Amino acid sequence: RHIPADIDALISGLRPLQMKGYLPLEDFSKAVISLMENTLLPEDGKGVMVALRPVPGLSARQSITLCHQRRFGDVMTVAQNRLFLFLSTCRINDLDTALKFIFRLPVSEAFSNWVVWHQDVDITIQIKRLAQNIELTQSAIKHVKTAAKKTAVVFEEEQTEERRQPIPFTLLSREPKE
Ligand code: C2E
Ligand code: C2E
Repeated sequence: RHIPADIDALISGLRPLQMKGYLPLEDFSKAVISLMENTLLPEDGKGVMVALRPVPGLSARQSITLCHQRRFGDVMTVAQNRLFLFLSTCRINDLDTALKFIFRLPVSEAFSNWVVWHQDVDITIQIKRLAQNIELTQSAIKHVKTAAKKTAVVFEEEQTEERRQPIPFTLLSREPKE
């Protein structure tokens, strides 16, 4: 049976990124921009981009090792001491679910805040800002303080738990019968 040649082109157009994981900034930007320009993919449904700021003491580069992207089309890079992830076809409401699968640690333990873009035009503008090294504005940053506080409270509770007192007991309190 004859299969039209453009079927292959159509399929590869629908699953365009045959890559996953870390990419240098320039390659990451090219890959994401090529997705945004792909008219075969639904408008504003191509994926989510998120920029995570690591907690003090952890560099964005180090945080790469915590991130295990499994889905083809999920890519990441480092810029402005943030870990930038692009999560292919992920919906904004599923971001927490996706991050939970992707990171070994709870996200709020490794990152103090993050910024999310999910519309094509916003993702494209942000990629262009990265190329010009324009820093993110403070107002765009979503803080995750509540999550961090919860962790701290649990930790305190663990710390204040009463110490178990040793209870004396005697071995062989009775003489064994012969
Ligand atoms: P893929 O999309 O590149 O995903 C590779 C692996 O990442 C998956 O291997 C799975 O371990 C993990 N993964 C990706 N997305 C998700 C997700 O939304 N939830 C969960 N729990 N895990 C996810 P797996 O399962 O062996 O699948 C291999 C390939 O089969 C996938 O490659 C994808 O091309 C296809 N596939 C499997 N299940 C589905 C599905 O429900 N929908 C779609 N559209 N494709 C699927
Ligand atoms: P789920 O595993 O609970 O994931 C819910 C949604 O979270 C997914 O919706 C997707 O939007 C996002 N998500 C989860 N993990 C990843 C990820 O590794 N990368 C990205 N980019 N997004 C992720 P979606 O794609 O509509 O999938 C719905 C459900 O279908 C998933 O629920 C899962 O049960 C199943 N599924 C989808 N793809 C795969 C796959 O490749 N392998 C397996 N085993 N299951 C899959």
